[in-house]
Amino acid sequence: MPGRLVVVGGGAAGMSAASAARRTDPHLEIVVLEATGYAAYGLCGLPYYVAGLIESVESLAAYSPEFFRRRRRIDLRLHARVHSIDPATRTVTYSHDGHQRRLGYDRIVLTTGATPVRPDVPGLDDPRVFTVRSLPDAISLRSLLDAGRLGRVLIVGAGYIGLEMAEAFVHRGSTVTVVEALGQVMPNLDASVAALVEEEVRRQPVDLRLGAKVTGVTRVGDRLLAEIDSDEVLVDAVVLATGVRPASELIAGARADSRGWLLVDDHMRTSVPDVFAAGDCIAPWHRVLGRPAAVPLGPAANKTGRVAGTVAAGGSATFPGIVGTAVAKVFDLAVARTGLTETDARAEGLPAMATEVTGMSRAKYYPGSQPVHTRMVHTPDGRLLGVQMVGSGDGVAKRIDAVAVALQAGLSVSELAEADLAYAPPYAPVREPVLLAAQAAVRLASQPQSPRAA
Ligand code: NAD
Repeated sequence: MPGRLVVVGGGAAGMSAASAARRTDPHLEIVVLEATGYAAYGLCGLPYYVAGLIESVESLAAYSPEFFRRRRRIDLRLHARVHSIDPATRTVTYSHDGHQRRLGYDRIVLTTGATPVRPDVPGLDDPRVFTVRSLPDAISLRSLLDAGRLGRVLIVGAGYIGLEMAEAFVHRGSTVTVVEALGQVMPNLDASVAALVEEEVRRQPVDLRLGAKVTGVTRVGDRLLAEIDSDEVLVDAVVLATGVRPASELIAGARADSRGWLLVDDHMRTSVPDVFAAGDCIAPWHRVLGRPAAVPLGPAANKTGRVAGTVAAGGSATFPGIVGTAVAKVFDLAVARTGLTETDARAEGLPAMATEVTGMSRAKYYPGSQPVHTRMVHTPDGRLLGVQMVGSGDGVAKRIDAVAVALQAGLSVSELAEADLAYAPPYAPVREPVLLAAQAAVRLASQPQSPRAA
C-alpha cells in the first residue's frame, strides 16, 4: 500500500501494529502518535515496578523509541496527543511541542486503549489519588514509596489491579485498606473461587472491606481523609482500581457496543472506511460466547495490533478471537480463568453447571506439592464452557493454558478428560487436576439433570 499509515497510541497494540505494517510493506510511511513520553511499555508490569521488584522503569519497555525509529523506520512521535480524526478529509489533529498540528492519512489504526473508571465521589481529583494505568502514575507511586511517604494506602476496588497493588504495597511495608463495593473479591470469578482468593487476602496484613464504598475524600495537610460508609481512614494516598472503559471517543460514528467498545471485523476494520482498531479499545470476537466481548488484556492487544497493522499495510491476516484467558498473582496464590464462569454463562442464557475438585500440583509425595482448586463450567450435555483455577503451586498458568487450547479447539469435557497431559512427580501428578476436573464433569453431565442446571 503506498502512502501513510497513522497509528494512534504507542502501547502494546500500537507498536505491534506499526511493526507488523513495516514487515508487510518496507516502503510505507508509518507515523505513531503517542500522548505520553513512553512507548511499547508493558502496563501489566506496573504493580511489580511499584513493589520495587523491577528496579528501572526502562526494563518494562519491549524496545526503546530509538529502536523503533532506526531499526524499524517508524516515525514515533512522543508527547503527541490526538484530539480529533476527520474521516471525510482523512486528517488527524494533534498537539505536539505546544503546537496544534494536522496530519493526513491513507489508513489509520486506533489503539487508544482503555481509561480507568473514576467513581463519582467528591475529592477524587486530589493529586494524591492515583490510578495504575500509565507509567507516570506508577513512577509517582514508586517515588513516594521510595521517599517513605506512603505509610498508609487506601485501594478502591478488589479486582485484578486492586489486589496486585495491595500485594505491592504490603511488600513495601505500607498499611493497606482495600474497599470493594461488591460482596466478593474479583467479580470475574464465581463466588466459591473468589472466596478462596479472599481467604488468601485475609491471611495478609490487609484491611479488606467487602460491600463497602468510599463516599468522599478530603485533604488534611499532606494526607487524605477517606470516608468509607460510616467510617473514616486517614491515608497517604488513594489508588483507584475500579475498572476501565474504552477510550474510543476519537472516532465518532464507528460501530460500538452499548458500553462504547469498538466493533471490528476479523481483520480489525471498524465500520469507518480505512479506520482500523486494535487492543484494549475494541470488543474482539469471543469464541465461547459467539459474539464480540471486551476482555482488555495484553496478549489480545499484541495479536489484534499485529493483524490491524498487517491488513492496514496491504497484507492479509485474521484474528480468530479470544477465549478470555487470564492469570494473576494474588500474594501466594495464582488465580486463573479461561472461558466463561458459571455466572457469565447463566447471564448469557446458557444452561450451565459447574464441577469443583481439588487436586495436587505435583505427585503428592514429592516435596512442595500444593493443592490446586479447579472449577470447571460446562453444559449438561458436556460442552466445555470454562475453567477457574487457584493454587499456590507453580503449575496453575500452564494448566489454564491447556484448558484454553481445549476451549479454542472446541473439545468437550469428555475429550479433555482423555487429553495426554505431561506427568513427572516434580511437575504434575498422575491424577492431574485438569483431568480430575474433566472426569468429574463427565460424571456430573451424565447424571439426570437437576432443575438448577436445566
Ligand atoms: P476489575 O474490573 O478487575 O476490578 C474493578 C473492581 O472495582 C471490581 O471488583 C468492582 O466491583 C470494584 N468497584 C468498582 N467501583 C467501585 C467503587 N466505587 N467502590 C468500590 N469498589 C468498586 O478492574 P481493574 O482491577 O481496575 O483492572 C482494569 C483492567 O485491567 C481489567 O480489565 C483487568 O482485566 C485488567 N487487568 C488484568 C490483569 C491480569 O489479567 N493479570 C492484571 C491487571 C489488570
